[in-house]
Amino acid sequence: MSNKYLIGFDIGGTKIGIGLGTIDGVIVQSDRLDNKNTDPAVILPRLAAIAKELMAKENITGKDVLAFGISTPSPADIPNGIITTPPNNPYWRNVPIKSYLENALQIRGCFENDANCGALAEWLFGAGKGCKDMIYLTMSTGIGAGIIAGGKLVQGKTFLAGEIGHSVIEPYGRQCNCGLKGCWEAYCGGRAIAQRMQEELAGQTGHAMLKYAKDGLLENLDMLSLENAARDGVEYAVKLWDEMCLRDAQMFGMLMNIFNPEKIVLGTIAYAAGDFFMEPVKKYLPDFAWKETLEACQVVPSLLKRDIGSYAGLAGALYELKQTGIL
Ligand SMILES: [Zn+2]
Repeated sequence: MSNKYLIGFDIGGTKIGIGLGTIDGVIVQSDRLDNKNTDPAVILPRLAAIAKELMAKENITGKDVLAFGISTPSPADIPNGIITTPPNNPYWRNVPIKSYLENALQIRGCFENDANCGALAEWLFGAGKGCKDMIYLTMSTGIGAGIIAGGKLVQGKTFLAGEIGHSVIEPYGRQCNCGLKGCWEAYCGGRAIAQRMQEELAGQTGHAMLKYAKDGLLENLDMLSLENAARDGVEYAVKLWDEMCLRDAQMFGMLMNIFNPEKIVLGTIAYAAGDFFMEPVKKYLPDFAWKETLEACQVVPSLLKRDIGSYAGLAGALYELKQTGIL
């Protein structure tokens, strides 16, 4: 185990994870902080204090830590390290978190969006280890991605590369939260699928799907209800699940032909639903990718799974140190 350390901050909508780990990706100390409707004026000093506590527990100081990384929700001002308008917390507006923590800890800071940090984590510590070209897709309530191409994270001119969930797959289709219509996320994101079921089944009190919603309530229909109902063969669910798998395969196929990756690493749904999701997707893939790009690419579930947040900030920091030649 290396004696060089990194600190990762994973800024989530309800929790912030803080981890102290080595450059080999071994987390040695960690803590969590509630982040529901918090005030940054309170939280920022707490983050610095917790980071110092973790270092003290490990008997090290800031001098032993090469860098810290912040995995931030979008939208954010990436070059300046500012969390701008996180969707789940109305009190965080234009918070210069990177410079605050750099000053408080006297450690070099890195700042990257959570999907990119997730991709870096899978690439450096997880299922994508050793690949030169890989794509990580979050596949949860929303669909986000981080793209590693030619051994580099693709950031784009204005740091928006990887917003694959908002590729329009159905012109003038379902309204997406982002403002466009027909986005992939509007068809296959967990939140959008729940909304769609609730719209389509509104007023149908005796519908077979309601049995799969918590307390039998329409507003509790979610991705898990859909999966369970589809597994039981409920016609509505079978059709919708199949449509989702088809559209996912369509996008994976496009990604294969655009980037020719060695791996596509999938978050939540791939490990939560397993073969029930992966099998239909793999059945449809040959219709959407060339044989050559398909054969070159393994579609695999995330290895870090629910722990990915713990590695996200560390991975962001490690990547930047490698990019700048420090490591
Ligand atoms: Zn969209």
